[in-house]
Amino acid sequence: MPVNTTTEHLIVLRGVNKSYGQPNGQQIAILENISLELRPGEIVALLGPSGSGKSTLMRMIAGLIPATQGEVIYHNRPLVGLNPGVAIVFQSFALYPWLTVLENVELGLKAKGGPSDSRREKALRMIDIIGLDGFENAYPKELSGGMRQRVGFARALAVEPELLCMDEPFSALDVLTAENLRFELLDLWLERKIPTQAILIVTHGIEEAVILADRIIVLGRNPGRIRADLPVTLPHYRDRKNPNFQALVDQVYKILTNPDLETIEPPATTTSTSTPAVAEPPKNQSLPSVRIGSIAGLLELLEDRNERDLYRLGQELQLEIDDILPIVEAAKLMNFVELVEGDISLTPIAEKFIAGGIDERKQIVRSQLLDKIRLVQQIYRLLEAKRNQRIPEELVLDILENHFSPEEAQRQLNTAIDWGRYAEIYSYDEPAGQIFLEQVAIAEP
Ligand code: ADP
Repeated sequence: MPVNTTTEHLIVLRGVNKSYGQPNGQQIAILENISLELRPGEIVALLGPSGSGKSTLMRMIAGLIPATQGEVIYHNRPLVGLNPGVAIVFQSFALYPWLTVLENVELGLKAKGGPSDSRREKALRMIDIIGLDGFENAYPKELSGGMRQRVGFARALAVEPELLCMDEPFSALDVLTAENLRFELLDLWLERKIPTQAILIVTHGIEEAVILADRIIVLGRNPGRIRADLPVTLPHYRDRKNPNFQALVDQVYKILTNPDLETIEPPATTTSTSTPAVAEPPKNQSLPSVRIGSIAGLLELLEDRNERDLYRLGQELQLEIDDILPIVEAAKLMNFVELVEGDISLTPIAEKFIAGGIDERKQIVRSQLLDKIRLVQQIYRLLEAKRNQRIPEELVLDILENHFSPEEAQRQLNTAIDWGRYAEIYSYDEPAGQIFLEQVAIAEP
């Protein structure tokens, strides 16, 4: 691999924060205190649940968006504007449909300038390397997904970037095509056929990260932050069945699924609640967007199966981490499951839930929601305080937008409405956009 001799690091981030201003003036923290270095010769995977800020971090490194605080340093100088050493491969291919393969690949080179003959020559060379020979004059719509993504790779690599950034480049492809392309990219990298010094790949696939990366940086959510920076020393090409491969996948899975203790604020001094031993739900609590039915399904599955290892359970059920994590998180928020080192177990409350009929289940969820879920508590208190026991949803959205983006605030509200409705704590009048208290309340369990 060509190693940059002028500087030890390609990119250095120091204490980087990213936040977005809301229409109401509030700042929402997306990434917090990110410090990392990218070195020549390495493939680094940015891994984390959806919404942990992986794409945002990659875009800051590419100079597409500025950091709110902290420094992004490129070749020992603070980065201003676009990073000239970076090219990006997007998940959605991002090709111009009215341009041929060759024209699409040439496009990135045009932005860099230079004589058109040499541009064409570079584009043709990269088209050849990336396995698109013979398709130069085809239009994107004539190509399969895998071939389109090859064009995406060729376009990014033609500019000879020092750092190739890839944002979930294989996730729009079918499993086999994705696996082929992954290994072909690895071939090109290991055989030094591509003119790039380092690769940064954003992914939510643990196995994809362990297959490709020399380092895995695990991000956590709310706000996004680095939870782990793990070296991967297994030699290429890695065998998914190898016990060392499995052990590393397990380790990463455990990090991702372990309780995010740092995000939970310690409870403020225990105030006069009826149950002083129980901590108040944290202020920045974020509700995973899942239905109660999914949570019930998970609990029943855990009861039926003997498998306690969440990773194996996910594999058995062919569930991706992004599918299973939100359900597990929701079950954890309601104190239905405990997680220790990636092993999941049911709590006594969950056992009662599973054994219960529909009414008992509703009562249990009601009691857990009112005890553990801050947003449900807030909505309930607001409703109780109103004489007509109705509130407009805008009131809740305004409160939520102090902590979440407008889209996320809407998602949080939808989840709270869905959960509260199931438990018959309150109802939702959709045409009026109002939440209201159920006339007939269920007796407290
Ligand atoms: P990931 O790639 O890990 O899924 P993203 O970087 O796409 O995460 O987003 C992280 C969070 O930042 C999300 O909650 C998203 O809604 C929020 N976000 C991203 N871009 C913007 C923006 N332009 N304005 C407000 N919020 C944003």
